[in-house]
Amino acid sequence: MIPYGHQDIIDEDILSVTNILQSEWLTQGPTVDKFESCLAQRFNAKGAVAVSSGTAALHVTCLGFGLTKGDIVWTSPNSFVASANCALYCQATVDFVDIDPITYNLCPIKLEQKLKHAKRFNRLPKMLIVVHFGGQSCDMQAISKLAKAYNFIVIEDASHAIGTVYQGKPVGGCYFSDATIFSFHPVKTITTGEGGAILSNHSAILKKIKQFASHGITREIHEETSNTKLPWEYFQFDLGYNYRMTDIQAALGISQLKRLERFKALRAEKFDKYNEKLSNLDIQLPYSKGDSDTCWHLYVINLLDPSVSRLNLFNFLRMKGIGVNVHYIPIHTQPFYQNLGFKWGDFPECEKYYSHALTLPLYPNLSYEDQNFIIRCVKEGMKCSLA
Ligand SMILES: *Cc1c(COP(=O)(O)O)cnc(C)c1O
Repeated sequence: MIPYGHQDIIDEDILSVTNILQSEWLTQGPTVDKFESCLAQRFNAKGAVAVSSGTAALHVTCLGFGLTKGDIVWTSPNSFVASANCALYCQATVDFVDIDPITYNLCPIKLEQKLKHAKRFNRLPKMLIVVHFGGQSCDMQAISKLAKAYNFIVIEDASHAIGTVYQGKPVGGCYFSDATIFSFHPVKTITTGEGGAILSNHSAILKKIKQFASHGITREIHEETSNTKLPWEYFQFDLGYNYRMTDIQAALGISQLKRLERFKALRAEKFDKYNEKLSNLDIQLPYSKGDSDTCWHLYVINLLDPSVSRLNLFNFLRMKGIGVNVHYIPIHTQPFYQNLGFKWGDFPECEKYYSHALTLPLYPNLSYEDQNFIIRCVKEGMKCSLA
């Protein structure tokens, strides 16, 4: 099966990991700190904290910004469930903002309408988690303007957008947000096996985030306690978690980060080839906005022709050994979210997009032959997948 996404691992990556395995520290050693510095430097943020997953990154970011019971968080329904679950972990309330039908990102016009409405009912969000779907940046300029006007925190879930440059600035630099999170799951642009990171320019909050990712414990003297510290003492101030990244993972991350530009170029090459070869079919191809120099994570086609069945095409391609996928089932339609009161029909643009979307394989080492095969099969499948 040709998967929809796949890691790219070379001897250098393997060597960097085995070096750590033979060293003194498998975890809580110097390599995690080094990876954090590399990330902050690469994406031009004041600091970074590496954690055990993208989901953990979202959770500790919510905690670091003081999210708690009674707070409201808005996000995009067109994302992986983790983008919304993180708020629920903190007992906050979640709501969604519908997407733009062209970019599939959270729509800033709908956001403004919803903010106006929420203001009247005193139900403004404390935090907005935007998702750069497929790698393409959201309209951060418009979103950050609204954040200032309505006073909410902006978190970028950039799990798809490692390597993307928006308006000449790297995603992760937090020029238009309070923090950015990455995921290093193997299908994402760079990998650490499992892993994630938080980047921010708020140093004090990053410190809190780091603490939340390690049991809420610090070894520093706190102004609330006495200024004497016994040599073995550590202090727990908050209820934290063990979300630490290991040095083994961090070593892989450092090695992978060196090839990010190459991964971006290889993804772009494949992306452009799909665009060219599929252009004469009756499908909506991904739309590239001029303000985002995107590191593409997903290649999503949308079936415009109602006589073609997405399910039949999906099955046809899977039968051919092509690991097509669907990103995403709208979060609000998951049974768990329906139990919270959401229902089909709440976010119509997202639902409409979802009903015709199909993700084709895209990853750096997708071979020339495999991509040609996929393109041939999509063309053939379009003809024999009538609804
Ligand atoms: C992958 C992903 C996550 C979760 O990351 P994990 O590292 O798998 O926990 C969150 N949000 C989005 C948009 C993702 O694609």
